[in-house]
Amino acid sequence: MNKSMRFKSDLIKINLENESRKTIELECELIFSYRKTLSLQVIAINRIKIRAPQKCSKRYILDFVRSKSNWILKHLNRMKDIVPAVPLNDEEISFGKKETLKRVQVFLATYKGLHPKRITIRHQKTRWGSCSSKGNISLNLNCGFIPQELFEYVMVHELAHLYEMNHSSTFWSIVESYLPNYKQLRKELKKYPLR
Ligand SMILES: [Zn+2]
Repeated sequence: MNKSMRFKSDLIKINLENESRKTIELECELIFSYRKTLSLQVIAINRIKIRAPQKCSKRYILDFVRSKSNWILKHLNRMKDIVPAVPLNDEEISFGKKETLKRVQVFLATYKGLHPKRITIRHQKTRWGSCSSKGNISLNLNCGFIPQELFEYVMVHELAHLYEMNHSSTFWSIVESYLPNYKQLRKELKKYPLR
């Protein structure tokens, strides 16, 4: 028998209960190999990887995972705050463009008095948006994937540059007049990668 054929892998589901007694369904990648002990890794939101000795029973593995449930839940909670930076595929890019445009139209109809000359939507890896001295605004199509309130922050930020081309205290007071909680939103936006 070929050596690699002797290693099995499997995907099983495990239910864990969190501190508020809500059941969380975990996908568990199981990899069996020549190792002697079990290892556990949180690899994505609600997905873990277990490496186990070949002869290990599923029952034993389940007990092991349950015994580590506090540790797993702690790591999952931490992970929820971070959106993975997987590059957008073509379908997502076109969705992002359409969604950003839709949001822009709703925004401009709601926030009266903030009107750029032109808005273009582009795919960029470095910023959410920019404003030129001519009053044209460029928005990143990643704006179609962030929560609505964060999108509004990006818009207000760029539109405030129509009045102040810098990040002076005057600039921030314009932003604040539209979004009193802008500091919180700005912090929140940093959790989202440009992809
Ligand atoms: Zn700015």
